[in-house]
Amino acid sequence: MRQFKTESKKLLDLMINSIYTNKEIFLRELISNASDAVDKLNFKSLTNSDIKLDSNDLAIRISFDKDARTLTVSDNGIGMTAEDLERNLGTIAHSGSEEFKQENAESQGGDVDIIGQFGVGFYSAFMVASKVRVVSRAFGEQTAHVWESDGLEGYTIEDGERAEHGTDVILTIRENTKGENGEAGENYDTYLTEWGLRDLITRYSNYVRYPIQMMVSKS
Ligand code: ADP
Ligand code: MG
Repeated sequence: MRQFKTESKKLLDLMINSIYTNKEIFLRELISNASDAVDKLNFKSLTNSDIKLDSNDLAIRISFDKDARTLTVSDNGIGMTAEDLERNLGTIAHSGSEEFKQENAESQGGDVDIIGQFGVGFYSAFMVASKVRVVSRAFGEQTAHVWESDGLEGYTIEDGERAEHGTDVILTIRENTKGENGEAGENYDTYLTEWGLRDLITRYSNYVRYPIQMMVSKS
């Protein structure tokens, strides 16, 4: 088990335990990462004539398994090597957000809409997931790697398999919670339904230039 960096732990803690209500933005963050990854590969192919890429194949796929409680966001973009997984997912990308939070927490004395202000990105997945598994194969590499974490202390990186380049971000969705003291509980099950997801995808994919395909199982 590798430990998260201190600032990453603080942000994870803030996101998982805060009363932040707009948890659904995690999907916007994962879609935008998938889109960035496809952009990077697309750009690479435009600047390197050795890379033959059919841009019609570039896409983002979203699927879910109600019984396994998993939601998967997949892309066939640039992918990540084991080193990329370590560097990009082991530490928080937006180091500025922690400073911002501290400054504002002092002046406003409490909760700041930090997540609304910044795209905090990948870690927002832990607001709705008890476990996140990232299976990735970097473009041009033959092997894939798996990054996995429960968002608490640390993460593991192991060898894995993936048929082609790109990334699958697999969330194990939390169980619904019952409300307390007159407050409503949290409905995570909505992230495991076709309509719940369609609603989020329409709202959060305005600027995405690639097709977002939703895979619906026939069960
Ligand atoms: P940001 O997108 O603002 O850089 P994130 O926390 O969302 O911050 O993601 C951190 C980094 O992890 C990204 O910069 C990227 O390098 C990497 N990453 C995340 N998701 C993917 C993905 N689907 N494919 C490739 N790289 C990814
Ligand atoms: Mg991002």
